[in-house]
Parts: sequence; structure tokens; C-alpha cells
Amino acid sequence: MKKHNFYAGPSILSEYTIKNTAAAVENFAGTGLSILEVSHRSKEFVAVSDEARALIKELLDVPAGYEVLFLGGGASLQFCMVPFNLLNKKASYLDTGTWASNAIKEAKFFGNVEVVASSKDSNYSFIPKNFTVSPDSDYFHFTTNNTIFGTEMRYDPEVGCPLVADMSSDIFSRPIDVSKYDVIYAGAQKNLAPAGVTLAIVREGALGNVERPIPTMLDYRTHIKKESMFNTPPVLPIFAALQTLRWYKELGGVAALEKINLEKAAILYDEIDRNKLFKGTAAVEDRSIMNVCFVMNEEYQELEAEFNSFASAAGMVGIKGHRSVGGFRASIYNAMPKSSVEALVATMKEFEKLH
Ligand code: PLP
Repeated sequence: MKKHNFYAGPSILSEYTIKNTAAAVENFAGTGLSILEVSHRSKEFVAVSDEARALIKELLDVPAGYEVLFLGGGASLQFCMVPFNLLNKKASYLDTGTWASNAIKEAKFFGNVEVVASSKDSNYSFIPKNFTVSPDSDYFHFTTNNTIFGTEMRYDPEVGCPLVADMSSDIFSRPIDVSKYDVIYAGAQKNLAPAGVTLAIVREGALGNVERPIPTMLDYRTHIKKESMFNTPPVLPIFAALQTLRWYKELGGVAALEKINLEKAAILYDEIDRNKLFKGTAAVEDRSIMNVCFVMNEEYQELEAEFNSFASAAGMVGIKGHRSVGGFRASIYNAMPKSSVEALVATMKEFEKLH
């Protein structure tokens, strides 16, 4: 039976990415060696890294003065690397979920942190809109897509200071104005590659302004100087990332992806709003087009486990919601085909007929 992969991350990758990566595990770039056993300094792999970074610049329209980095440590290390490198006196943070609050916790090790607003009291079901950011903040940090709670900020906010964003779960899903950001970071394991590499896009002019010493590995300048080869980079995830990026370009880039993503999300949200058994958990105006969270309606609560089994039997994988929200979460990243979203909708309709 066909499986439909709704995992939140690591999550679905394009068939193109999987096919080419599998082939390179056998024979990488005609070397007769596996991608698993080649030097990161071989000319073949340096070409992969160079092309991947160039494609990221092209797809996201990255202006001059920025560098694209492949780092280790996951997005979670960026929670600490960002303030280590950028927080001099004060930084402002928006608390929209678990990952945002983890970022806030780390920033507090480095200086004064102003939490401008939080939706924690509503179990992060919406994005706070009414807040002001102190004009003397070194940066304003926010999470563009809250993977666990299914809310998303699909815009680059105007707040009067440089932006820093965790885009782990929606990077490459839409166009962004990189020039408004000092740092954009994203763990690869949703819209780019298998787990193991973290993408950072860093404005070089934002660096060198803090007084504290920075350990070599945690200093963005180290990685900029060495073109992400200061230490051994995760070769396989970077190779897979390149395949995904080529596929994105082939599809028409991030504007084309956004169009498809909006369409896929609308198909699913329309069904959630129509079907008597289900309801969405995120405020309608803040609904994510990457992670669609829903629960059983009050009068059908007892059907949750039954729907889970029914959906599994129909080939749906990974739709159980995060334990802090419950219910269901369908992650419909860039690589998710529309046909899988339609299969989930058909399953929801069939289940409704039974009740
Ligand atoms: N930020 C967001 C928005 C995430 O969804 C996740 C993981 O799911 C993280 C950060 C943490 O990423 P990592 O596991 O790469 O540290």
C-alpha cells in the first residue's frame, strides 16, 4: 500500500533527492567511491558544497554581504550561537512556541532579553500582533513557523531593528526579504535534507560587534572564512541538500513552491472546517501552510484513537500531534505531493461517513 509521509521532521524529501542520494551512496560523481567515503576536500565534494551554497543564494535572492553556511549542532545550537555572536546589550524575542522559548532561554545566558509578547497562556494557538520592540535592541528574534503548534508568520515583520529568524520548518516554502535579516537559520530536516546539517545565512556586517570572546567553532566568522569547511562538514546531508535545491529550481523556485503550498494547505484546512468530526487548533489568520494541526470536535473526542488507527490503515504515517497539543498534525512540507494531501482528506471523509 502507498504510504503518505506526514512526519514533522525528519520528514518527506523529494523522490529526486532520495533517488540521486541513493545513487551517490553507490557511486558518487563517477568517482567509483560512495559519497559516504569521500574526503570533504575532494574536488567533487567541494563542487557540491559550492553549488549548494550558490543555489541557496539564487533561490532566496540573498543580497551581497551575506554568507551561506552549513553548520553542525542543529537549529538548537543556533539558539546559543546567535546571541553569542550578536547580543551585545539587549535583544528582543517573540515567544510563539516551544522552539521560540528554547531560543529565549539560551539568549538569557548572554545579556538582557526582552520578551515582547507571548501566546503561551493560550497554548501558543496564535501569533501575538500587538507588541513593540525597543529601538535599541541588537536584533529581534522570531520563529517563522511553529512546527508543534501549527502557526506561521508568512511575512518579514517591520520592527525597527534587524531581524533574526528560526526558519527550520518553513524555509524555501515562500519568498523572503533576506535584506531585513542579520541571521536566518534552519535545521535541514524538514525542507532541505536529512538531519545532520544546519543552514545559516549570515550578514557579515552584523559580526564583530560584541565584546565577549567567542570560541572558534561558535564564531560565524570562522565558518565564513573557511567556506563551511573549518571542520568536517556533514557530507551526505549536504549532497542531499543540493539535490533538493536543484529540484526546487526546476519547479520554478520559492514563489512557485509557495503557490503549490497554499493550494495544498487550503485543501486540508477546507476539509477540517467542513468535516463535523474535526476542528483546527491554530487561529485561522495564523494557520501554518507547513504543519496543519487539528483535533476531534468536542462531541467526538472519544474517536481520536479510532481515527488514528483508521488513518494508519489507509497508509497515513506520522499524523499524531505533538504530545503538548494532542490530536493530529499533518506536516505538508514542500516535498509532500498534493495527492497525499488529497488521500488524507479522502480518509477524513470516509471516517465521517462511519459516524
Ligand atoms: N526550531 C524549529 C522551528 C523546529 O521545528 C525544530 C525541530 O523540530 C528546532 C528548532 C530544533 O531543531 P534541531 O533538532 O535541529 O536542533
